Amino acid sequence: MADLEKRNPGEVEYLQAVREVLASIEVIYNQNPQFEKSGIIERLVEPDRILTFKIPWVDDQGNVQVNRGYRVQFNNALGPYKGGLRFHPSVNLSILKFLGFEQIFKNSLTTLPIGGGKGGADFQPKGKSNAEIMRFCQAYMMELWKIIGPETDVPAGDIGVGGREIGFLFGMYKKLTNNYSGVLTGKGLAWGGSLVRPEATGFGAVYFVQEMMATRKDTMQGKKVAVSGFGNVAWGAVKKLDQLGAKVITLSGPDGYVYDKEGISGNKIDYLLELRASNEDIIEPYARQFKSSTFTSGKRPWEVPCDIAMPCATQNELDQADAQNLVNNKCSCVCEVANMPCTPDAVETIQHNGLLYAPGKAANAGGVAVSGLEMTQNAMKLHWPAEEVDSRLHEIMRAIHASCVLYGKRPDGYIDYAKGANIAGFLKVANAMLDQGVI
Ligand code: GLU
Repeated sequence: MADLEKRNPGEVEYLQAVREVLASIEVIYNQNPQFEKSGIIERLVEPDRILTFKIPWVDDQGNVQVNRGYRVQFNNALGPYKGGLRFHPSVNLSILKFLGFEQIFKNSLTTLPIGGGKGGADFQPKGKSNAEIMRFCQAYMMELWKIIGPETDVPAGDIGVGGREIGFLFGMYKKLTNNYSGVLTGKGLAWGGSLVRPEATGFGAVYFVQEMMATRKDTMQGKKVAVSGFGNVAWGAVKKLDQLGAKVITLSGPDGYVYDKEGISGNKIDYLLELRASNEDIIEPYARQFKSSTFTSGKRPWEVPCDIAMPCATQNELDQADAQNLVNNKCSCVCEVANMPCTPDAVETIQHNGLLYAPGKAANAGGVAVSGLEMTQNAMKLHWPAEEVDSRLHEIMRAIHASCVLYGKRPDGYIDYAKGANIAGFLKVANAMLDQGVI
């Protein structure tokens, strides 16, 4: 870690993600001298390559805008680089390296043949017109196409990149390469997409919570759930929670959170799609639309008493004070649905108090898992029905849960899912790297 800190000064999120993984795999690593002899850690923490590039584009007023684009190809021991693209003003190399690093282990856990990567740009989609988003996506792909391909690197969505953006990116890739292939996932159904991909991250996380609850002989029925965010991931989670008889009571945006005492179900769930399409990135309109809810400005939902907390927004959105609030309010389960939404001291507080805790790299792996299934369908040039995709997703989430239990169960019976996920994800990648030699 000391060496890594020296070589990557100021990359706070990246160092946080690596520190967490290294701490959990220490014992396993020391039991296998081969890992050290082959420099597995030193090779694993250094991305295979990083492309950064200029994205010039013209806005609706005719002004030239310049953004910075990235693709981090982190590790391809298990398959082509695979991971989303994030368009958000906060995007920098530290954030993309943390996301790419997490993606290696997450993708390993899915049991599918996919390596780890991540990309994006410091672009602000908020307030942009559809035409501006299209021109930006096209300009981004003008550089990215050179290093991606269906057997090389397969990007997808993340924050700020949904079905609309994947469409514009795919169109430009096809034009530049004269090649119609499954080079991106999260595509539209008519042009190579998979059923259940939009819902997959949220559905998968709820299946994971179900498995965790079952270890304590409990179910989702009647549970009050606090959810943060209101984008694609939150939407999928709310939909599945509602189907299983849980009551979702909160959602949030960068502007604050809404508390809906009657629960978020039916047309309220569909309304999230409208909110998202508006490009405004605020949750406050929800409270104006539905009278059963109240809006609290500038706060996060973790002060609301709940049985289960599901952070679905972004990294480090739940800190130690929030975790303490959840503990005090008798919350029994925290499931990370975003990538690394809990700060390290929040995780410590949650686990120390015996709550069920699922790390994002295990619980949110359903999204990339169905991306992997989309790649399979593209390779076979056919479509699976929704039931088939959903049942495979369910099976994958059960398998990830079982791996976490296998490597994370403590002698006192408490399951350290973070440790279990890190060890299970790491072992597969490390052994593949050993097999493939020093490259
Ligand atoms: N961005 C998602 C993630 O964090 C999905 C990536 C993908 O489908 O490739 O896992």
